[in-house]
Amino acid sequence: MFSQLFSESNLPRFRQQQIRTAWFDPAISGWDEVTTLPKGMREEFKVQFPWMSLTSVRLQASQTAHKGLFRLDDGKLIESVLMVNSKGDWTACVSSQVGCAMACDFCATGTMGFSRDLTVDEIVDQMRYWRQFLHTNPHVSGRLSNVVMMGMGEPLNNYDAVRDAMWSFVDHMGIGKTKVTVSTVGVKRGMDRILEDESWPDVRVAISLHYADQTKRAEHMPVANQRPVDELQAWCKQYLLRYGNRNHYLTFEYLMLEGKNDGAQDVEAFSRFLKGIDRYKVNLIPWNEVNNLAYNRASEARTLDFQARLKKAGILSTIRKSLGREIDGGCGQLVVLGEEGG
Ligand code: SAH
Repeated sequence: MFSQLFSESNLPRFRQQQIRTAWFDPAISGWDEVTTLPKGMREEFKVQFPWMSLTSVRLQASQTAHKGLFRLDDGKLIESVLMVNSKGDWTACVSSQVGCAMACDFCATGTMGFSRDLTVDEIVDQMRYWRQFLHTNPHVSGRLSNVVMMGMGEPLNNYDAVRDAMWSFVDHMGIGKTKVTVSTVGVKRGMDRILEDESWPDVRVAISLHYADQTKRAEHMPVANQRPVDELQAWCKQYLLRYGNRNHYLTFEYLMLEGKNDGAQDVEAFSRFLKGIDRYKVNLIPWNEVNNLAYNRASEARTLDFQARLKKAGILSTIRKSLGREIDGGCGQLVVLGEEGG
């Protein structure tokens, strides 16, 4: 809608600028408050271009995270999470699709199936919402400094909208490119586009690896049938040739799935995978409980043990703190049940 506003309404540049400034101002929550515009124009826009493409239907909060459930114009529901980060500022975890088609067998979103892509506005508005939330809520302080495209959906399956939304974070919300992370299970087309795309904002890329062995990966993450592990590895090398530099690396996310991906062979497969990939970080992620999924959350001791075994194989890693679990807003727990979600 926001982009439509400019394409459809022949506005002079200074008006466009006034609107853009107001649109991304967390202190402004509707057309009525855009007092730089004449009243008639505000009234007109109010009817044609709703200020927000989503409405919040429920907010849940813990000490360190807030989770919002949002209704879209067509009644579909999505979730989005705000988490405190290491600097005391906030990181938003933003959704890119309603549901997800990737069907990873450890993920809650995967169980709801795919419904549709989000529009650029719907992605951007999750951020506008959280910025307003922080601005107007007297009980929370700190600014929204980081964003991870790690909510519901596979961002690279909604490439154009995700890319444009990320530009919006960078250009209009003052978020640095290295503070934006897009996470993917490794879809072929979207990943290949990154390598060729002149207008790709070189944000950080994280890959949800979880299984480095092709047979196992394909068993639990169907995407591996479309892009096998060795092709994924080749992509990583190409990516680093093109974008790698001192502060540009790849992040590999590795879920701790007790008894499934934490054996000696898994360490071997992981280290084979990383051969030739020079700039990377590994994040070990405790698996968050999802009802009815056949996994167990690894104990801390087991996670530390795996970390030690990786280290022996020359792989340094960090263990990701999982926030939002108490409100089912942790990684892989975002799901909307019932008709409207799916
Ligand atoms: N589809 C993209 C974006 C979602 S990111 C991707 O998968 O990368 C969400 C992250 O949470 C992914 O790394 C995903 O693998 C991970 N995840 C999925 N289920 C989880 C669970 N139950 N507990 C913890 N992390 C989970």
